[in-house]
Amino acid sequence: METAQLLTQKPPKKINLKGLWIEDLERLLRELGEKRYRARQLASWIYAKGATEFDQMTDFPKKLRKKLSQIASIDSIKLVKKQVSPKDFSEKYLFELSDGEKIETVLMREGKRVTVCLSTQVGCPLGCTFCATGKMGFKRNLTTGEIVDQILALRRERITHLVLMGMGEPLLNYDNVLKALRIINHELGLSFAGKAITLSTAGIPPMIRKLAEENLRIGLAISLNAPTDEKRDQLMPINRKYPLKELIASVRYFKQRVKRRVTFEYVLIKEINDFKKDAQTLSQLLQGLPCKINLIPYNRVPDLPYQRSSEEKILAFRDYLYPRCPVVTLRLSKGEDILAACGQLRTQS
Ligand code: SAH
Ligand code: SF4
Repeated sequence: METAQLLTQKPPKKINLKGLWIEDLERLLRELGEKRYRARQLASWIYAKGATEFDQMTDFPKKLRKKLSQIASIDSIKLVKKQVSPKDFSEKYLFELSDGEKIETVLMREGKRVTVCLSTQVGCPLGCTFCATGKMGFKRNLTTGEIVDQILALRRERITHLVLMGMGEPLLNYDNVLKALRIINHELGLSFAGKAITLSTAGIPPMIRKLAEENLRIGLAISLNAPTDEKRDQLMPINRKYPLKELIASVRYFKQRVKRRVTFEYVLIKEINDFKKDAQTLSQLLQGLPCKINLIPYNRVPDLPYQRSSEEKILAFRDYLYPRCPVVTLRLSKGEDILAACGQLRTQS
C-alpha cells in the first residue's frame, strides 16, 4: 500500500471497555491469549477503582497494558455543565455522550444520605403529558456504559443511594439497565447493595414481572399519578396499553417475589388529580397492598398547562391518605424532592 494511502486510513475503532462485564472481558482476554482471572482484575480496575488508563493497572504486566491499549479504551461521558439549585442545593449535571447527545444526572444531599438520580434514555418515548422529558420525545437508549458512567463521573461524592428516576423509562431499556444494575451491585463493580437502589417506572407490567425474577433485591417505585384509568389515560398514555388493574397485579407479584414494599409516586397537579375524591379512590385502589405513597408537589414545566396544587390541597390530600395508608411521605419545606428535581429533566439540544 502507498504511504499516502496508509496515512489517510483511519485507525480501527477501539473497543470501549466501559459497559463490558466479567463474562465479556473474559471473552476479550481469551481472544488476546490472556489468563481468565485477568477479567476480574480488569473489571475491578474499571468499575471499583475507576481507572481510565491502562497504565494505572499496576498489577498488569507492561506488555498486557500495551496490548490492551492498542485495541481498547475506557471512555467517559463528558461533563458539560453543573448547576446548583438555590432552593434545595440539588446539583444537576449535564453530560455529553460520544455522539453529541446530552443527558442529565441529579445529586441531592440530605445529611449523610447522598442520592444520585440516573438517566436511562435520551428523552422518553412514553410522552406523559405533564413531564418535561416526555415532551422532548425519544432519541435513544443509553448504553450500559453510559448508565454506569454517571456514577463513575461523580464517584468522589460518597454516593449512598441511587434512583433510576432521571430521563427515560428504565424498563424500556431493559437489557442495558439490567446489566448496569449488575455492575452497580457487584463487589468488583460499584458495590451498591440492592436496598440502596430504587428503579422508578411508569408501569410496564410484563417488565415488572421480569424484574421480579432477576434475583436483584432492588426497590421498585411506580409513577401512579392518578387513581382511575380515566384520569391516568390522560396523564400517562401508557395506561391505555396497561391499565391499572394489570399494573397493580404486577406490583403484587413483585412484592411477593422480592419481599420489598413498593413505593407509589403521586405528583399533585392542580385541579387535575388533587381532589378529595382522588384521595378516596387512591386509598381504595391500594387497600390491602402494603406500600408507601410518596406525594410530590408538581413542578411547573415551561409551555405545559399544568400547575402545582395549593399547599392547602396538598396537606388535605395527605391527611386523607394517612393513616388509611400506612406510609405517606410528602416534602414541602425543603423546596424540591429528589423526584421533583428529577422530574424536571429536559436538555436543550
Ligand atoms: N420514567 C420513569 C422514571 C423517570 S420520571 C417514571 O416515570 O417513573 C421521574 C418521576 O418524575 C416520575 O415519577 C414522574 O411522575 C415525576 N415527574 C415528572 N415530571 C414532573 C414534574 N414536572 N414535577 C414533579 N414530578 C414530575
Ligand atoms: Fe417518561 Fe417517566 Fe416522564 Fe412519563 S414521567 S414521560 S415515563 S420520564
